[in-house]
Amino acid sequence: MLKKKIKELLKEKPNTQAVVRGWVRTVRDQKSFAFIEVNDGSTLGNLQVIADANIPHYAEAMSKLATGASVVISGELVESPGKNQALELKAKEIRVLGTCDPAKYPLQKKRHTFEFLRTIAHLRPRTNTQGAVLRVRNALAFATHLFFQQRGFLYIQTPIITGSDCEGGGEMFRVTTLEKPDPEKDFFGKSAYLTVSGQLEGEIAACALSDIYTFGPTFRAENSNTSRHLAEFWMIEPEMAFADLKDNMECAEAYLKFCVRYVLEHCKEDLEFFDKFIENGLIGRLQHVANSPFAHIPYTEAISILKKSGKQFEFPVEWGIDLQSEHERYLAEEHCKKPVILTDYPTDIKSFYMRANTDGKTVAAMDILVPKIGEIIGGSQREERLDVLEKKIQDFGLKREDYWWYLELREYGSVPHAGFGLGFERLVLFTTGMENIRDVIPFPRYPGHAEF
Ligand code: ATP
Ligand code: MN
Repeated sequence: MLKKKIKELLKEKPNTQAVVRGWVRTVRDQKSFAFIEVNDGSTLGNLQVIADANIPHYAEAMSKLATGASVVISGELVESPGKNQALELKAKEIRVLGTCDPAKYPLQKKRHTFEFLRTIAHLRPRTNTQGAVLRVRNALAFATHLFFQQRGFLYIQTPIITGSDCEGGGEMFRVTTLEKPDPEKDFFGKSAYLTVSGQLEGEIAACALSDIYTFGPTFRAENSNTSRHLAEFWMIEPEMAFADLKDNMECAEAYLKFCVRYVLEHCKEDLEFFDKFIENGLIGRLQHVANSPFAHIPYTEAISILKKSGKQFEFPVEWGIDLQSEHERYLAEEHCKKPVILTDYPTDIKSFYMRANTDGKTVAAMDILVPKIGEIIGGSQREERLDVLEKKIQDFGLKREDYWWYLELREYGSVPHAGFGLGFERLVLFTTGMENIRDVIPFPRYPGHAEF
C-alpha cells in the first residue's frame, strides 16, 4: 500500500483510516488525553494527533514521546474542532521508533538564528524555514525541467571534472591524486579542475541538437565571503542554436517568470510563511515580477544613470568598470523597481567568447539584475565567426591549442548561437526572500566550511 504523507492525508475525507509517519514537533499532555503535532516534511503544516489515555500502551508511548522523536501513529482522520486545520488524527496505536532526549536535542522550540542552524545542518531540515526552503527549491528544479522540456530543449550533462578553465582566469579548484601538482604524472595526464561552467561543452551539444540546457553543480574557488556566493552552487545553462541576443533575452525572461508563477501556484503555503516571517510583501513582489515586462538598458546608458543618481557608491562609476552589487541593486531596486536586463557590456570586462558588436568596444552580453540580489543571470550571444574568435583568443592572451575543439565548432557548420547561466541558489533567494545564500542550499560550501 502506498504510504501517504501528511500533505495527502490532510486532503482526505473525514472518517478514513490513516497512518502518519513523521517526527514529533510538540506534545501537550493533558492527563486524560494528549495532543501530538507530527511533521513529515511534505508540507509546512503539522498533522495534529489526539490520543486518548485509554488506547493500548498509552502510558508507555507517552513516556517516550518528546519533540524530535520519530513516530508511526495509526488511527482515524476526523473533523477537527480547532480552526487551524480541517482534520486531525484520532490515534488508535502509537509506536515510537526513535526516542529523542529533550535535554540534549539541539532543536529547541524557541527560534534559532540561521547562523546557529548552519552548525547543525544535519537537523536543520526539520525546521519550518528550512523545510519550506527545500520544498520551494524542489519546485524550482521541477519547474526548470518543465519549462525547458516544454520548449523542446534537451537536458545535457556536462563534465564536472574539466581540463579547460572556461573563461581563462576563473578561480578553480584543482583535481589531483598527487601530493605535489605535476600535470604529466597526474591522473588525467594534464591539469584538471572542477568546472566553473558547463557552457563550452553546452555549446558543443547545441551545435548539433539545437536547443539544450544543463543543470548541475559548479565550483568557484574565489574567496568571496558574501551572502550571494558559494564555493559550490548549481547552475542552469541553456544554449540555443540559430539564436541571437534577443532570442536569449526572451528565453531568460520567460524562464524566470515561469519559475515565479510556478511557485506562486504550487508553493502557496510556503510562500505565505516566507511573506509573514522572512520578507513582508514577498508574494506581491513576485506577482509584480510575473506580470510586468523586464526593463532593458544598455550598459553605457546604465553608467550614465548611475552617475546621475546622486548616490555615493563605495566603488566609483566610470565607463568600463565591472558593475558591483551596489550598482546592480540600485538599477534594479531603485531605478527600475523590477528586473532589468543590461546589455552590450565593454569587451574588456566580459569573457572572450562573447560576440563582438559593430561599435568595436562592446559585446552582445546580457545580465539580468533583480531587486534584492543583483545579478541572477549572465548570458551572451557567442562569437560564431572563426576569424573574429581566433583574434579574440589571442587578444585575451589565451592559448589557441587549449581551444582547438571550441574553434572547430566555428570551422564546421558554425551557427549564430546564444545562451545564459542562472545561479540556482540565487533563484531560490529571489523567490523565498531569504537573505543568505548559505541558507538556501542543504549543505553550503564556503571558505572554511565543508562539514556534513
Ligand atoms: P558575480 O558577479 O555575482 O560574482 P559572475 O558574473 O561571476 O557573478 P557568472 O560567471 O556570470 O557569475 O555565472 C552565472 C551565474 O551564476 C550568475 O549570474 C549567478 O547567478 C551565479 N553565480 C556566479 N557565481 C556564483 C557563486 N559563487 N555562488 C552562487 N552563484 C553564483
Ligand atoms: Mn556574470
